[in-house]
Amino acid sequence: MVRYCSTCVMPDTKPDLSFDEKGVCDACLSAAAKKTINWQEREAEFKKLVERFKRKDSSNYDCIIPVSGGKDSHYQAYIARKSGLNPLLVHFEPTMRTELGLKNLENIRRFGDMLELKKNPNVYKKMVIEGFRRVGDNEWPNHIGIFTFPIRVAVAYKIPLIIWGENSQLEYGGPKASRMKNTLDRRWLEEFGGLLGLRVEDMVGVEGISEQDLIPYQYPTDEELQVAGITGVFLGYYKKWDARSQTELMQKNGFSIKEDGLVEGTYTNYENLDEATVGVHDYLKFVKFGFGRATDHACLDIRNGRMAREEGVALVKKYDGKLPKISIADFLAYSSMSRKEFDSVMDSFTDKAIFMTDEHGSPLRDNDGNLIKKYQDYSIFTQSAAQS
Ligand SMILES: [Zn+2]
Repeated sequence: MVRYCSTCVMPDTKPDLSFDEKGVCDACLSAAAKKTINWQEREAEFKKLVERFKRKDSSNYDCIIPVSGGKDSHYQAYIARKSGLNPLLVHFEPTMRTELGLKNLENIRRFGDMLELKKNPNVYKKMVIEGFRRVGDNEWPNHIGIFTFPIRVAVAYKIPLIIWGENSQLEYGGPKASRMKNTLDRRWLEEFGGLLGLRVEDMVGVEGISEQDLIPYQYPTDEELQVAGITGVFLGYYKKWDARSQTELMQKNGFSIKEDGLVEGTYTNYENLDEATVGVHDYLKFVKFGFGRATDHACLDIRNGRMAREEGVALVKKYDGKLPKISIADFLAYSSMSRKEFDSVMDSFTDKAIFMTDEHGSPLRDNDGNLIKKYQDYSIFTQSAAQS
């Protein structure tokens, strides 16, 4: 039986999410805790950080900002610049860049110089396909790239401070130890960076991938990090993170949202704009755990006081977990995978405890190709976790 948080719309099938005795999830608890944090003190801490890393001369950049070009990286770069830091923006090329993504990536350069890794597309594509088949995540090499390449640049360019964005465990829920941290290090990446137990070394030999091919994906050694004195911090520790108000602020700084409709699988148009196949990644999460991007967004809006829970339930019903047809078409074109193989991989990751199946155990679909939850009436939302 799936249980839902009694204050947001998150199910307990979300990995690493725990509930208190009243059936409230830990992401809601940390959202409540955020209201009691003394943000002025955190601001003072941030000022100290800036003072510590701001160079007295102009011999090098002050910090690195890993950027996708999205709303979060815009905000990070904006804050760095506003605080008097001279950032080097570091970008890892996405799987299939969209036009809007390119426009935003160009825009972000108003905050500083940018370094982009144009990866070997053949090696990367092999990893996309392997990640999809093996751990059900087509964005697997992208997660590695965006977390690893900026650190390699920090070591190589001797720029010790890296400013990451939100702490996703704090915003979306996760183990307490990961929520309280303000730094991102190798351990955080391995545990919470979405690697799903697959290591970079495991890619050696896949379709002829060699160790040499994997250089951009190799995390620097502890010794290299120590020598360079690398410090990675989450800006979300110092600033009260709020996606919607930050997006509005960034729109005043040239950031563009999607104007021609909503992003597939959710009711928003400000996130996941830069990468065409990310809808497949989100859909994989849905088939594995029974919740999609609309759930994440509704949870954030509820926790930030922008939405009543009933409204969130309605939006989840309407948008969550719909088959992302555009993203799938893009992914098939990119990977040259047959639809048949795509579907069979999807089926292999679909949780049969959550979705209805036929007599052979294959997932059932409605006329639009969408999976059918066992609990269709969503009455389950009204039963709090504490009651069951
Ligand atoms: Zn909750």
